Amino acid sequence: MDVRRIIGRLYPAAMKYEVGNGGVPVFTQADICAAIAMAAQADRFATEVWCAVWYESSKADGLIRHRQCEEYLRRVQAVEIGRLAAHIAESEAEDHAGVPGVRRALSAARAERDEAEASRWPAYSARYGLIRKTVIADLGSAKVCPTCAGRGHVTSGTLVVNCAHCGGTGRKPASERQRAEALGISRPSLARWQDVYDWTRELCARAEKRGTVLLRQTLGEPKMAA
Ligand SMILES: [Zn+2]
Repeated sequence: MDVRRIIGRLYPAAMKYEVGNGGVPVFTQADICAAIAMAAQADRFATEVWCAVWYESSKADGLIRHRQCEEYLRRVQAVEIGRLAAHIAESEAEDHAGVPGVRRALSAARAERDEAEASRWPAYSARYGLIRKTVIADLGSAKVCPTCAGRGHVTSGTLVVNCAHCGGTGRKPASERQRAEALGISRPSLARWQDVYDWTRELCARAEKRGTVLLRQTLGEPKMAA
């Protein structure tokens, strides 16, 4: 059973892809609403993201923005901490040049600072909101991932691993050109935003997957309770 298809059947206006086989929907709109409410109790973020991808959600954007801002701040702080640690290591190296390990500590501190600076996200702007919109649209895309054929995982030898191309979503990620267009930037400046985009997509892809699992579980329950 694919709950995403059930939603598509019950809300034809919101249908994002064709349902191949017809038939009478097993679940009523009230069943779906109850299931969504129950899933939201278990994991509000995952459920709202799932709704944003497959139906609609007025809350998902604010919730994703909150996560983005937390991560943004975390990265800003990492730069400040890295700079401070490098300063301290520099004075240590000057004051105690003869002490073993001081030079090594200095180069480690510098490397950490440089890494934090490189992972810092661009200054917060409206583009973060465009990224959220693009990611949600991207995850709801009907196009099947060509690498894993929609399974979300691939076999590597005897191992089953998450498909790196689609991040395990099974759906084809937007091309570089499509992403640049959606974000209103040129393809060369896309590189600056790539990390924000990838991070946001991974966050939402994980939440959408969890939302699907939760709704699968909760959809059975209202029927049983009725
Ligand atoms: Zn894939």
